[in-house]
Amino acid sequence: MRGEAGMGYYGGVMNCVFCKIAQGQIPAVAVYEDAEVMAFLDVNPIEKGHVLVVPRQHYEVIMDAPEAVLQQVTCVVRKVACALMKSGATGVNVQQNNYPAAGQVVPHLHFHVIPRYGQDAPRSWASGAGRYAFDAERDLYAQRIKEGMKP
Ligand code: 5GP
Ligand code: ZN
Repeated sequence: MRGEAGMGYYGGVMNCVFCKIAQGQIPAVAVYEDAEVMAFLDVNPIEKGHVLVVPRQHYEVIMDAPEAVLQQVTCVVRKVACALMKSGATGVNVQQNNYPAAGQVVPHLHFHVIPRYGQDAPRSWASGAGRYAFDAERDLYAQRIKEGMKP
C-alpha cells in the first residue's frame, strides 16, 4: 500500500541509502559528481564497471522527477555510457526500475549503466511473454497509453 499523502510510495527520505551517499554520509566509489547529479559504482555489480547515476535530491521514481532533473541525470548517463565504451565495453545497457513490481529495491531514483564486454546480447526480459491475444487487445493497450499521455 502507498504511504501517507506527500510521503510517496516508500515513505520519504528516512534511511535512504542513496541520499546518504549523495550527502557524503556513507562512502561510495564516485566516478562523476556535480551539484545536482552523482554517479558511483554499484556495490553488487552485474558487470565490472556497473555504474549507478542518481539525482542528489530524493525522488522515488522517474514519474516523480521534474523534466529538468531528468535532463541533467540522463546527460550524465550518456557521459558514463561513452566513458564505458572508451574503456573497453562492447555495449552498454541502461536500466531503470520503478516500484517493487518492476524490481526496484532502493527507493531513490537511479539509472543503472551496465557495460557489456562480450558479443552476445544479454536478455534480462522474456521477449514475447506479453504477446497479445488479439489485435483488438493490442489496440486497447495502445489507446490506454495514448489517453494517459494527454495532459
Ligand atoms: P534497484 O533494484 O533498486 O534498481 O537497484 C539497486 C542497486 O543499488 C543494486 O544494484 C544494488 O547493488 C545497489 N546498491 C544497494 N545498496 C548500495 C550501496 O550502499 N552502495 C552502492 N554503491 N550500491 C548499492
Ligand atoms: Zn534518497
